[in-house]
Amino acid sequence: MQQAKDLKTYREELGEAIDNTFLHNTMDKFARAYPQGRENAFTGLDPQALIAEVVESKDSAIGRMEELYQEFKKNAEAAGVQVHLARTAAEATDIITRIAREEGCSRVVKSKSMTAEEVRLSRHLAGEGMDITEADLGEWIIQLRHEGPSHMVLPAIHLSRDQVAELFSEVTGALQSNDIEKLVKVARRELRVKFAEGDMGVSGANFCLADSGTIGFVTNEGNARLLTTLPRVHVALMGLDKVVPNLHEALKVLRVLPRNATGQAITSYVTWIHGPVECKAARNDRKIFHIVFLDNGRTTLAKDPLFSQILRCVRCGACANVCPVFRMVGGHHFGHIYVGAIGLIFTYFFHGRDNAKNLVKNCINCQACKSVCAAGIDLPRLRRWSRAFRTRRATNWTPGC
Ligand code: SF4
Repeated sequence: MQQAKDLKTYREELGEAIDNTFLHNTMDKFARAYPQGRENAFTGLDPQALIAEVVESKDSAIGRMEELYQEFKKNAEAAGVQVHLARTAAEATDIITRIAREEGCSRVVKSKSMTAEEVRLSRHLAGEGMDITEADLGEWIIQLRHEGPSHMVLPAIHLSRDQVAELFSEVTGALQSNDIEKLVKVARRELRVKFAEGDMGVSGANFCLADSGTIGFVTNEGNARLLTTLPRVHVALMGLDKVVPNLHEALKVLRVLPRNATGQAITSYVTWIHGPVECKAARNDRKIFHIVFLDNGRTTLAKDPLFSQILRCVRCGACANVCPVFRMVGGHHFGHIYVGAIGLIFTYFFHGRDNAKNLVKNCINCQACKSVCAAGIDLPRLRRWSRAFRTRRATNWTPGC
C-alpha cells in the first residue's frame, strides 16, 4: 500500500493541477459536451424512471448478495467455470497469481477493470515477474506512462494527442504523427501481437447473472472480446456487487449505463460469456475459465442502512463528468484509485481512512453528482458522513486498507 499524502503535499499538487492550462481546457471541453450528449442519448425516454428501476433492482440484489453469489457459483460451476471468492484485495491477487502459476502463464493481457485497479492487480502480477499488457487503448497509454486512470471510463482523458504521439514514438522507436486515427492504428498493431501471444486474459464484468452463471461486459474497443477469446486461460475479476438475479435485471442497468457514461444508446460491444468455450490454444481444446469475486468489505457494506447504496454504483463516471472540482484538478487529484464523487467515498471504504482524509474535503456540495447518478446514489449526503467518520465525530465502521 502506498503511503497516504500529507495535506501540504496534496495542496501543492492541487495548485500545480490548477495551473495546468491544458488540463483545464481538456476537462472544460469534455464537461461542456457531456450534458448535451447525455440528453440526446435519453431522448424519448424518462431518465429518472429508468434510474428508479436501477435503484430498485440493485437494492434488491444487494440485499440478497450472498444468496445470489451462491446461486451464480452453482450455475457457473455446472457450466465448467471455477469460481473463487476473495475476502480481501490481497487474496484476490494471490488467487490470480496462483492460477497463472498453475497454468504456466507468464504473458497476461488485461481489459479495463476498476476492480483490478482496486486490488492493483497489474502491479502485483508485474511484481511476480509476469509480462502484463493493458489492452484498452487509454489504459495502455497510462500503463506506458506508469500512471493510474484519471477517469473510470476515460482513463487517459488528461493527455493530449501530442503527448500520446511522443509516447508512441518512444515505444515504437519511430516518429509518430499526432493524428488520432494513426495513433489508434499504432496501438492496434502493437497490441494485436500481445493478444496473439498472451496465455492468460484478464477481464472484469459489468454483470453476473445468478440464474445461469453468465457474465457480461460492455466495451467500445472490442479488446475484451479478443482477450477472452484468444488466450487459453480467462480470469474474470469483479466485485460481489455485480451479481444480479437474471438478464432482465441486467438490462435495466444496461439501458442507463452507456447513456449516462458516454452519451451512447448502447456501447459498441456487449458480450455475454457462459462457461468455457472451445479454444484451440488450450489443453483439450477447451478454455480454462476462472471467475474471482472480490468482497473487500462489500458484504459488510451491504448490511449498512445508509452506505449500502454505494454498491449500486455502475461505474458510469458521470459523477466526475459534472463535478466542478474534478473539472479543475482532474482525476489524479480527485480520487485515490476510484475518482469523482463516488471515488471520495469508495476510497474511504476500500482504501482506508488515511487515503480519503484529504479527498473528502474537496466537495463543495453543489449536488451536481446526485442529479446525474445512474444509480440514484445520494453522493453529497454520503460524502458528508464519510467526512464525519474521518474526523471521528461518527464512526462504527472499520474502513478497508
Ligand atoms: S456513483 Fe453514480 S454517477 Fe458515479 S460512477 Fe457510480 S453510478 Fe455513475
